[in-house]
Amino acid sequence: MAQAFFGGVHPNDMKAATNEKAIEQLAPPAEVVIPMSMHFGAPCTPLVKAGDHVKVGQKIGEFHGLGAPIHASVSGTVKVVEPRPYTMGGDMMSVVIENDFQNELSEEVQAPADPDALSVDEMVEMVKNAGIVGMGGATFPTHVKITSGIGKVDTVIINGAECEPYITGDHRTMLERPEEIIGGAKYLAKMFGVDKVIIGVEDNKQNGIDSRNQVIAAQKAPVVVEPLHCRYPQGGEKQLCQAITGKQVPPGGLPANIGCAVFNINTTCAIFRAITQGMPVVNKVVTVSGSGVVEPKNLECPIGTPFSCLFDACGGLNDKTYKLVAGGPMMGMAQYTADVSVGKGTGAILAFCENEEQTVEHPQCIRCGKCVAACPMHLEPLFMYQYASKNMLDELNDAHIMDCMECGACAYACPARVHLTHMFKYGKQKLKDKMAADKAAAEAKKAAEEKKEAANK
Ligand code: SF4
Ligand code: SF4
Repeated sequence: MAQAFFGGVHPNDMKAATNEKAIEQLAPPAEVVIPMSMHFGAPCTPLVKAGDHVKVGQKIGEFHGLGAPIHASVSGTVKVVEPRPYTMGGDMMSVVIENDFQNELSEEVQAPADPDALSVDEMVEMVKNAGIVGMGGATFPTHVKITSGIGKVDTVIINGAECEPYITGDHRTMLERPEEIIGGAKYLAKMFGVDKVIIGVEDNKQNGIDSRNQVIAAQKAPVVVEPLHCRYPQGGEKQLCQAITGKQVPPGGLPANIGCAVFNINTTCAIFRAITQGMPVVNKVVTVSGSGVVEPKNLECPIGTPFSCLFDACGGLNDKTYKLVAGGPMMGMAQYTADVSVGKGTGAILAFCENEEQTVEHPQCIRCGKCVAACPMHLEPLFMYQYASKNMLDELNDAHIMDCMECGACAYACPARVHLTHMFKYGKQKLKDKMAADKAAAEAKKAAEEKKEAANK
């Protein structure tokens, strides 16, 4: 079994509520709200307006620079294009489509005659046109990861760790759709020019490992499954690279720096569908769980489905529900409303009852050092907390806060319940703001000097 990475914690996985429940198709919602930002990079520009008729798979948002296009997930009429509440906080320009329940497929969705005859460039183009991003939550555009890694990457890894508590969508996908995963892995091997792809899976998903091994043997596919010891955050791509290859990504670096590229399970399935069917990302598998959910489930729904529809399909919410979270309990974002909708990176929506809230109003660090031992990035969270809370931004930068992946392992390990992760999100934003202000000031100074120099000539 693969060696572990440094640090990490071992929370109760809480997966029993859904890990034996097959993925169900959600009854189509009457309306979808599709945000124009579901990727790393600037938001897309909407290509449709109120009153337009759209079909499933039709491009409705165009990206600029770093990003990925966005497609209609149902057929029907565009009701409005306007800012709506968004899982990342605040509002985001969104296309609201009234479903006509005809499920009409767009003419833009074209399957290639022979997917296996496609060149690497043609496959990358299909991945780009399908709007595929890291569907484990990172939402980095997949075509960019592939093109920037070709020629540098010799180890392609499929991330089946799914280490966040409660979430079981990837596990169920492994059990129910192994052909799509192995098929997608074969195309990734071809694009990167490697002779094998490694799928890393934690050993609490043994049936997922077995189902894939059967398909690999039947297809004689260039894929191996690597069982991993359970440990959070195994699914962090840097940790997964270390667990599988033994190599560490350098501070500030990316997996490509050590010759690795990592793709999520559902991203791999999306690559398979894009290359074999020309199908863009229009659906998402979402785990709906937590003590506030009456009947937890794994549901597959159109992108843009409001959270409230998913909760309704799970019997509704418990009266004592206190908190809604988009994503897992360690890295997810708390939500103030169930009117936000499912995006490409939404792997789970959780609801919790009040009796699980264990925050401390004025926590005091007791200098036990447990957070340092838990940090998989070799950081010193107790000092970073002091610097961030006192606005000591130079010291915060020197403490490498930008390497913090906000995994929450330190906060989980902290016996004093210091609000570490929250403070690091705040500190990183302050530091980014300062860097942007410093850059703008330096540019203004340079422009003024150039102007002065030109005037003196
Ligand atoms: S949240 Fe940041 S500081 Fe805390 S354990 Fe994770 S990477 Fe380390
Ligand atoms: S784990 Fe918590 S109490 Fe212990 S040193 Fe870190 S911040 Fe302080």
